[in-house]
Amino acid sequence: MKGVIARYRKFLPITDETPIVSLQEGDTPLLRAYNLEKKFNFPFQLYLKYEGTNPTGSFKDRGMTVAISKAVEKKAKFVICASTGNTSASASAYAVRAGLISLVVIPEGAIALGKLSQALLHGARVVAVKGNFDDALKIVRQICEKFPVELVNSINPNRIEGQKTAAFEIIDALGRAPDYHAMPVGNAGNITAYWKGFKEYSVVRPVLLGFQAEGAAPIVKGKPIKNPQTIATAIKIGNPASWKKAEAARDESGGVIDTVTDEEILISYKAIAQCEGLFVEPASAATVAGLIKYTKKGFFKDATKETIVTGTLTGHGLKDPDRAIAESQKPPVAEPTLEDVVEKLKI
Ligand SMILES: *Cc1c(COP(=O)(O)O)cnc(C)c1O
Repeated sequence: MKGVIARYRKFLPITDETPIVSLQEGDTPLLRAYNLEKKFNFPFQLYLKYEGTNPTGSFKDRGMTVAISKAVEKKAKFVICASTGNTSASASAYAVRAGLISLVVIPEGAIALGKLSQALLHGARVVAVKGNFDDALKIVRQICEKFPVELVNSINPNRIEGQKTAAFEIIDALGRAPDYHAMPVGNAGNITAYWKGFKEYSVVRPVLLGFQAEGAAPIVKGKPIKNPQTIATAIKIGNPASWKKAEAARDESGGVIDTVTDEEILISYKAIAQCEGLFVEPASAATVAGLIKYTKKGFFKDATKETIVTGTLTGHGLKDPDRAIAESQKPPVAEPTLEDVVEKLKI
């Protein structure tokens, strides 16, 4: 069955009256990361949930199929979101499919190129505000109080419902829950969703390991960050909407939420691409960066090769091509001759 609503309908708030709006999201790969295990001496089996293969290139589609379906059921005409990019890409695509108008508020200059191009080409009405994501979300919430528009940020519980299906898929693929699950934390909807999913689907549950960027780590620091900074724009959030729920997920699972630096994120970003053939956006690399940090700290000292750790790679690398280019060598230019091309290829 294609699409998360078709696959997991009985776990979702879907009724006979709900028109299903789907782009056949979900069913993403869960790949054993043998090369990363070796490179970083992980004392466990690592499986990566590659969410970049979703229709708009991030896990947001899992939540959006439910949120947009419910918006259509409520006869909404407009949907609105504040976004660091991927929510807007997803909302705009699903809105088109449903015949809705998509309104998007983004922080000016802080959106990766691929994400902005998606929202624009899908015909969303996009406004860039001179502020950060938290400012954008505040304005969007105020708009929702004044105008008949449907909010599709992850504060909308239907988003969480849809996103929990990633946890279902992990358990279905492994035949059991993992021992640990690692993921990035931004607005903290997704860690909330995974925990809900693991709880609903299995009595045995993983320990959750959430990672925020050092310069945008309000949950770790215990206070909102006024001016969050990180190259991982998808988690550049100073005051997460699902803060309390993320803390509950952390505590109920016996897990942690901790920081990784931009430098650690970039090392993992390259390693994931160069060891496993998986092109992810920087925020996704926080997952592996955190596992490297925690392995070095001795956190996994009781792990064996039977221990299963899963990690979410939240979005596709093509979302942020500028970063990929910035982290790479510029290709040499050769004369159009066999000799010069062979020389430059260093064969
Ligand atoms: C949205 C997003 C995140 C952060 O998820 P939250 O639910 O906001 O914590 C991480 N990575 C990518 C690629 C995202 O699009």
